[in-house]
Amino acid sequence: MIPLTVKFSNDLPVRHVLNVSGGKDSSALALLMAGRVKGLEQFRHDGMEYVFCDTQKELPETYEYLARLEAELGKKIIRLNAKAGFDHWHKVFGGYLPSPQNRWCTKMLKLKPFEAHVGNDNVVSYVGLRADEDRVGYISKKPNIKTRYPLKEAGIDYDGVVRILEDSGLGLPTFMKWGRTNSGCTFCFFQAPYEWVKLLETYPEYFEEAMKYETIDPNDPNKRFTWMEGAPLSSLLDRKERDRVLSAGIREAAPKSDGKLLSVFSGKSTTPTEACLMCQK
Ligand code: SF4
Repeated sequence: MIPLTVKFSNDLPVRHVLNVSGGKDSSALALLMAGRVKGLEQFRHDGMEYVFCDTQKELPETYEYLARLEAELGKKIIRLNAKAGFDHWHKVFGGYLPSPQNRWCTKMLKLKPFEAHVGNDNVVSYVGLRADEDRVGYISKKPNIKTRYPLKEAGIDYDGVVRILEDSGLGLPTFMKWGRTNSGCTFCFFQAPYEWVKLLETYPEYFEEAMKYETIDPNDPNKRFTWMEGAPLSSLLDRKERDRVLSAGIREAAPKSDGKLLSVFSGKSTTPTEACLMCQK
C-alpha cells in the first residue's frame, strides 16, 4: 500500500473513500486501488470504500457499468442518494437550471450525500484526476477530508486509463459508443450540442424529459432557463440543425466550469477549465 502522506489533526482511525462516477477515470482509479494494475500493485488498498452518488437521473449504461466494475473489484459499491432529488432542488432554485455558474446539482446531489456519508470521520478521498490534467479536484472546506490523486501520483494519463480498462476486461463505458463522452446525468448541461443530438437519437424519452425542464418566458428575459447556452433543446428537433451540429462534431464547445469544487460551496466562479470530477469522470 502506498504510504499515507496526508496528515490529520488527531490520531483517530482514517477511512479511505473512492467516489466512482461510472466514468472511465474513476473506474481506472478503482482498479488501481484494488491492486488490479500490473506493475503498480503497491497502490492496492484493501480497506477502500467505494461509493457512488446516485442522482437518479443517470444513464442506464452507468448502472450497467457500475455493476461490471463491482464484479471486477469483488467489492460492493455503496450507493448514496441525496435526501431530496433533482426535482425538489429545481423547485427550491426557482426553476433555475444548474449551469457552470451555479452548479447546484453537484452540490446538492453529489457533494452533500458524500459529506453526509463520511460525517466527521478522518477521510482520505481518492479522486480520479489523470497525470495529463491540471485542474483542481475535489476540494472540501471540511478539515476531516483530505484528497489524494493516485492516477497523477502513478503518472497515468488518458492512454494509461484506457489501457487499464482494456487490460481488466472492463473496457470503456458503453455510453461512449453512442457519443456521450462522460458519465453524468442524462441531461447534464456540460454536454456539447453534439452529445445532446446523440442523446436525442439514443434516448428520445430522456431528451424529451430534459426539454420539459426548460423555461422560456417571452415576457421576461430573466426567465429563460435552457440547458444549452443560447438555444433551447427544441432547436435540435430541426433536422437541418441536427445535421449541422453532427457535422461540427464533438469539437463544438461544451460549457466549461472552473473545475474547482470549492466554488460550488462558495458560489464563486473563476477561470473556466473543465467539468467537475464527482460526476463527469
Ligand atoms: S452530471 Fe451534470 S447535471 Fe449531473 S450533477 Fe453532475 S454537473 Fe450536475
